[in-house]
Amino acid sequence: MNIPQTSFPRIVIIGGGFAGISLAKKLSKQEVQVVLMDKHNYHTFQPLLYQVSTGGLEPDSIAYPIRKILKDFPNFLFRLAHVKEIDTLNNKVLTDIGSLKFDYLVVASGSTTNYFGNKAIKKYSMAMKTIPQALNLRSLILENFEDALLTSDLNERNTLMNFVIVGGGPTGVELAGALAEIKKGILPKDYPDLDTRMAQIHIVQSSACLLKGMSAKASEKAEAFLENLGVNVWKNVRVTDYDGKTVTTNADLTFETATLIWAAGVKGATIKGLHAAELINKGDRLLVNEFNQVTGFNHIFAIGDMACMVTEAFPSGLPMMAQPAIQQGEQLGDNMLKLIEGEAMVPFTYKDKGAMATIGRNKAVVDLSRFRFQGVFAWFVWMFVHLFFLIGFRNRMVVFVNWVYNYVRFDREARLIIRPYKKKHKPKF
Ligand SMILES: Cc1cc2nc3c(=O)[nH]c(=O)nc-3n(C[C@H](O)[C@H](O)[C@H](O)COP(=O)(O)OP(=O)(O)OC[C@H]3O[C@@H](n4cnc5c(N)ncnc54)[C@H](O)[C@@H]3O)c2cc1C
Repeated sequence: MNIPQTSFPRIVIIGGGFAGISLAKKLSKQEVQVVLMDKHNYHTFQPLLYQVSTGGLEPDSIAYPIRKILKDFPNFLFRLAHVKEIDTLNNKVLTDIGSLKFDYLVVASGSTTNYFGNKAIKKYSMAMKTIPQALNLRSLILENFEDALLTSDLNERNTLMNFVIVGGGPTGVELAGALAEIKKGILPKDYPDLDTRMAQIHIVQSSACLLKGMSAKASEKAEAFLENLGVNVWKNVRVTDYDGKTVTTNADLTFETATLIWAAGVKGATIKGLHAAELINKGDRLLVNEFNQVTGFNHIFAIGDMACMVTEAFPSGLPMMAQPAIQQGEQLGDNMLKLIEGEAMVPFTYKDKGAMATIGRNKAVVDLSRFRFQGVFAWFVWMFVHLFFLIGFRNRMVVFVNWVYNYVRFDREARLIIRPYKKKHKPKF
């Protein structure tokens, strides 16, 4: 791997997401050698992935090169590597570019889509966790409309123009809102010879409300906003299967669709070697103590989505969101320096800054610790917060200009099929 030998302790971080980057920033000017490994050479701003899927933003504007984020940090090294296994006996990580010994290891590998064991849904549905997946979805949505234009079979046309989103969390809600806006503002202009009023957007949620972790008011408002946009909201309905054409549920309800978008769950992105039953909870996250140490280890830590830290307020572990990841990364940076110096570490306390979601133009719901608001003001707050947390001045400018342009022109110009999505199993009619 060509990592220079040093007298400093070597800290290996797996993952350049919110958690890994905030930790690396804390440590890389200190007397330690930081080696960050990621299978991508960029950091992804996942909260805006849905805008890439729906042609609102170019993918480059929500990604940033990891090397550039940490270019001024003298003790930082990056390797483009897929970590395959952790050898806890010999303190080594095994990757597709070789192996490396560590003194301290931090697992910040984030999460992956959870299909809850349903192989058919995994095979036929679309996920949206990475930029390539968001681009696949963008292509598929547009290809469906191109195909709908060609067929004279009404059933086929409707199936191509139906979209079913499973999961009423922020991702599902935001995606449903964006698709509804495409139906209203873009499709009639792009496909004047297609009856785009037939396009249907369904969001299916297994529990009694949308945005489950947020306030009742936010949930009610989000539902009302979606219904005003023409989205069909199905609550207390669980999707049980999908064969590439028909979605079945636990209720007396089925959907015919060529596009099932699975936003119903995530689980830890586990790595072999640290996957023993006693180390993980049922969401495949590594159990950690209040210092983010993985159960049974002093020198192996987990942060962000990958870490399950149980607190009184969060008995199933802190939420899998950007804020816990950033805060844990920052605090662990301080704690690791203390550990190396032989000082006592400080227990992590999560400062819950709230949650928010947007449901299309001028509409958002925001729950802060003291204030809750919905509507236009919430939408401006949502935009400001997302711009603030995006990495890179250029990205902020590009996103801002895109948003202003889209707002003024009622448009989304990134509706491009650059890399056609080849569906493995086309529905038969
Ligand atoms: C569509 C979507 C919308 C979201 N919206 C919001 C939101 O509005 N607000 C909010 O707070 N949170 C949101 N989240 C959740 C938030 O993005 C995550 O909680 C956050 O990214 C977790 O940070 P992390 O550093 O733990 O993991 P990640 O940011 O996922 O980073 C993990 C990194 O590890 C790398 N990696 C994984 N496995 C390996 C391996 N074996 N070898 C090498 N590298 C590896 C990955 O490439 C990735 O770069 C959203 C998530 C998604 C998917």
